[in-house]
Amino acid sequence: MTSLDHQVLGPAFAQTPYDHPFRVELRAWLAEHPVDPEPLDQDARFRHRRDWHRTMAGNGWVGLHWPVEHGGRGVDPLTQFMYYEEVALAATPEPVNTPGLILLGPTLMAHGSAELKARFLPGILSGDEMWCQGFSEPDSGSDLASLRTRAELVGDEWIVNGQKIWTTFAQYADYCFVLCRTEAGSERHRGLTLLICPVDQDGVTVRPIRQISGDNEFSEVFLDDARVPKDWVVGEVGQGWSAAMTLFQFERGDQGYTDHARMLVHLLDCEDALRVAEADGTLTVDRAADARRVQRDLWVRIQELRHLNYRGAVLAKAGQELGAVGSMTNLVWGELEKDLGSAFAEASGARSLVLGRHDTHARLASRAASIYSGTSEIQRNIIAERLLGLPK
Ligand SMILES: Cc1cc2nc3c(=O)[nH]c(=O)nc-3n(C[C@H](O)[C@H](O)[C@H](O)COP(=O)(O)OP(=O)(O)OC[C@H]3O[C@@H](n4cnc5c(N)ncnc54)[C@H](O)[C@@H]3O)c2cc1C
Repeated sequence: MTSLDHQVLGPAFAQTPYDHPFRVELRAWLAEHPVDPEPLDQDARFRHRRDWHRTMAGNGWVGLHWPVEHGGRGVDPLTQFMYYEEVALAATPEPVNTPGLILLGPTLMAHGSAELKARFLPGILSGDEMWCQGFSEPDSGSDLASLRTRAELVGDEWIVNGQKIWTTFAQYADYCFVLCRTEAGSERHRGLTLLICPVDQDGVTVRPIRQISGDNEFSEVFLDDARVPKDWVVGEVGQGWSAAMTLFQFERGDQGYTDHARMLVHLLDCEDALRVAEADGTLTVDRAADARRVQRDLWVRIQELRHLNYRGAVLAKAGQELGAVGSMTNLVWGELEKDLGSAFAEASGARSLVLGRHDTHARLASRAASIYSGTSEIQRNIIAERLLGLPK
């Protein structure tokens, strides 16, 4: 697939010019490594993404923000910003192993022992070992501190019992990082520990959940005397909440970077769908005009997200913590993703109801964007309390 022109993105920012040597190098590599569009079938799609991850990793194009000592290139956030724009313009497959790459890896660097870093970081980067995030439980989502999965140290092993849910790509994962209660009788955020649990064992049952899009991207994960080696603890025993908070900082900080350019590319597809529906009479003139107005509005909102991401990258490069500003990016991103999915439906008219099409799938899958990585309501709470200083 040929890459799109930078015009799609709009004017360049001062510190990330389109002729930046990093962009030139990456674009040249991407042009030499064309990749097929993503298949619709979920298993095939996962394999496609994983293979692409491995191709990129083999050439040093994965985990660029990781320190050199851990196999990355130690690039600054502005270079990372350019990276995400270029891979989106080249229509490359969506990233895979993000629970490892974006969340667990950096958290392990901050809190993990030297042994754990040496054992797990290389496999995350290369894509040889896949990861999933075992935080949410049936009665603990937004209120994560109420979680009940427990682990007890017996000899040289933790024995883990409980249930996780909505665990993305658990069926493909080799390891799950599990937040669990290790101090009997402890409450809320006290007495929690972050453990690394191998998925392929008798004590772990993964039961995929069917989604509206037809995918089974997430699963229930049952832990029945699941075994974890004693030392596979991220951070200190009983200090899992601190490790989890570090992990959430990475989640809120990174989510936006990845997506504004991909959204702009999707918006182009959306415009194409509108042209087709207009030409063959699927949409009336009035409905087409409405759909065009929505698309113009989306373009502006995606540009706002792009500015937020750029600002976040500039702040991060200057060593400033994003803090609650990350929630703003997360909120804007989640609502946009959903509205973009709906705009596809508007632009395609009746076709958007046909299963087995990429645009239908994108529309249905987008409904979850204001839920995962913290719901929009929770992000609004954080913004209200921590940025605006409003009462709880
Ligand atoms: C596609 C997808 C993938 C996911 N992947 C993972 C994963 O890999 N690993 C993982 O651990 N989890 C994952 N999750 C779970 C996700 O983190 C939770 O769904 C999310 O945190 C919300 O929790 P909940 O579903 O229990 O809803 P609840 O927390 O029960 O919320 C229900 C509703 O109440 C609102 N609400 C709750 N508390 C408040 C409040 N204080 N103020 C105002 N409104 C409130 C919420 O916004 C929501 O609208 C995924 C979810 C989805 C949809």
